[in-house]
Amino acid sequence: MSDIYAPSLLRRILTYTAWTVIAVVTYVAWNAIAAWSQKFFGFRNGDGNGSHYLFFSGSGSDLAYLSVFWGALVFYRKNNCHRALCWRLGHYDQLDPLTGITHKLCWRHHPAVKQRALKLHHIEAIHGRYLEHRRRRAS
Ligand SMILES: [Zn+2]
Repeated sequence: MSDIYAPSLLRRILTYTAWTVIAVVTYVAWNAIAAWSQKFFGFRNGDGNGSHYLFFSGSGSDLAYLSVFWGALVFYRKNNCHRALCWRLGHYDQLDPLTGITHKLCWRHHPAVKQRALKLHHIEAIHGRYLEHRRRRAS
């Protein structure tokens, strides 16, 4: 077997030295990161308090704010328009008479609503239809 593929002594020394430097730097960096994170997140014991107490009374108490985020996300998902990829809130119900499923639709996708808000002439037309209906019931 030929030794032309065997690394030279200098190359072996440089390789071992490089791996040693990498190991030392990793060890020092890991300890520094661990010490910083223990202090930052409140894991470090001190003043007679346990690490769990320090975490939950410190940065761990901020986990409660995640519930606000998830609550807003669930509210939006529950109330947005049921048409695919529509981001608007579904203010109008559309009943499917065959399945009995009520879909929430926005003003743009509901078949009976053609504008974002009622105008005065729409309100007057609705009131006129109501008065006509009441007049027919009375007679
Ligand atoms: Zn929509």
